[in-house]
Amino acid sequence: MLQKIEFQLPNSTDPLPVKGRGLTILNDPWLNKGTSFTPEERIALGLSGLLPPHSADMGEQVMRVMENYARLTDPLDKYTFLISLADRNVTLFYRVLMNNLQEMTPIMYTPTVGYACQKFGHLYRKNRGMYISLRHKGRIAQVLSNWPSEEVDIIVISDGSRILGLGDLGANGMGIPIGKLVLYVVGAGLHPDRTLPILLDVGTDNEELLNDPLYLGCTHRRVHGEEFYEIVDEFVNAATERWPNVLIQWDDFTNDKAFPLLNRYRDEVLCFNDDIQGTGAVALAGLIAATRIRDEHLSDQRIVFCGAGSAAVGIADMICAGIADEHSLTQEEARKLVWMVDSKGLVTTTRDGELQSHKVPYARDEEPADTLLEIVRRVKPTVLIGASGQPRTFTEPVVKAMQAECEQPIVFALSNPTSKAECTAEEAYRWTGGKAIFASGSPFPPVRVEGRIFVPGQGNNMFIFPGVGLGAVACGADRVTDEMFFTAAKTLAHIVTEDELRAGTIYPDLGKIRQISLAIASAVCLLAWEQGLARYAEPDDIREYVRSCMYHPGYRPYVAA
Ligand code: NAD
Repeated sequence: MLQKIEFQLPNSTDPLPVKGRGLTILNDPWLNKGTSFTPEERIALGLSGLLPPHSADMGEQVMRVMENYARLTDPLDKYTFLISLADRNVTLFYRVLMNNLQEMTPIMYTPTVGYACQKFGHLYRKNRGMYISLRHKGRIAQVLSNWPSEEVDIIVISDGSRILGLGDLGANGMGIPIGKLVLYVVGAGLHPDRTLPILLDVGTDNEELLNDPLYLGCTHRRVHGEEFYEIVDEFVNAATERWPNVLIQWDDFTNDKAFPLLNRYRDEVLCFNDDIQGTGAVALAGLIAATRIRDEHLSDQRIVFCGAGSAAVGIADMICAGIADEHSLTQEEARKLVWMVDSKGLVTTTRDGELQSHKVPYARDEEPADTLLEIVRRVKPTVLIGASGQPRTFTEPVVKAMQAECEQPIVFALSNPTSKAECTAEEAYRWTGGKAIFASGSPFPPVRVEGRIFVPGQGNNMFIFPGVGLGAVACGADRVTDEMFFTAAKTLAHIVTEDELRAGTIYPDLGKIRQISLAIASAVCLLAWEQGLARYAEPDDIREYVRSCMYHPGYRPYVAA
């Protein structure tokens, strides 16, 4: 029987007793309020004379930050500026981010975070998160005990092997767990002090990094097989021993590890893989919204995937779950509406050599085909989804061949960063005379085609994973299930307004992310309570309870301890 405990609420306004004095407080980013310390606090905490006389409110501090930020033109400089702010004052950092969400999300996450990862060893300034490497084998529990927070709600862990669409970046991949957890805080109000980014350094095969004198990771080649799983097992045991309720998010592992890791742990510990399940849910949400525009069902679609890796299979699994749910079909029947294309062409049962296991369910029993154009002409898809990491694969002939059979083709160019997108928003609209229903993985600005303005939707995982994570943490879920992601997708798709659909936009405004995450987290909690997967007592009003769990960046009054 699961223990029932109340989740600790994060937004106390009671005065906080603070032990240190003077510079100890100013140098602690979790305590520092900079110029916002009140005259009383300055006297009580030994800060008198250490700060300019004027006591500023947070609004003034935000203004000052924004004035300095506005002077920067290079996205990477903006990233470094914001991270430095977090190093000085965590509360102000999150306030600034929340006030400027649309502008700063592409800086703290894709696309800029990808470039920040590529230069991580060169930009490095200060410790953040934890690194676990082979040299910690046998003593990972001891290593994790060095993390100062007694309570950790969520860990995002990557081995840096497949960073966005940029490949093996080794220990430089740390930017991803850091960035994802920033999105958790901003998007869903997870408490920053209870999040932990981890980079699992199992080596790198990236020659450039191995030869870079400023590379900060282990300079051996990647380990695989038993050696890899032994260290992951030890990490999972140590993390769940120290923080029994922790949610572990697997992120940016190559697909030869991503699927096995998910399958190894999904029924054992509270965990999920955002690249597989989060991507699946966000794409399904977009597709549900797109079929609302066309007034059709999911099961009316023929869907071609360009790419057959973690993202594509995660999306296909989720869409098939959606089709099966809509018409009481089996997953197998639903899969008949899906065609997968990888680097060798159409994925078929007759292909030479062994197919990777995640592709097997989608292998078609039909003639092979090499090119996407050939496949599109044969299949006549209504939906084309790109998750190949290969830019420019949706060419004009491909998109036009699609439109020849389907007036309003649904085209999702999901590869990140922007430079890897299968086609641009402008191309999709121009080639189809403005008829395409388009979404991308990285943001594209609005475009004008044939006198109309189109606002391309971004299939941003941020719409889904923060809400699912918050829901799982808030109810003390025992497991994260595919059904939770499916529920999240349906919730997101129905938040899109009729006006947005009329404008061809299939995702809601990212500015509403807190309301979106609240709705998704509440739906996830409800499901967990209905299915007996929640450890905590069910509140009378789930939505209000979830809302009360969300962190809002604001200063607490301090008193000397
Ligand atoms: P992956 O390495 O697991 O899979 C890539 C797949 O593409 C493989 O199956 C490979 O065979 C195939 N491929 C390679 N070249 C091809 C070609 N020329 N034509 C057709 N297929 C080809 O990578 P992944 O994790 O699945 O991610 C793929 C892309 O999707 C990345 O760019 C990633 O950034 C993006 N992605 C987007 C989102 C989102 O938009 N929300 C989420 C996750 C991943």
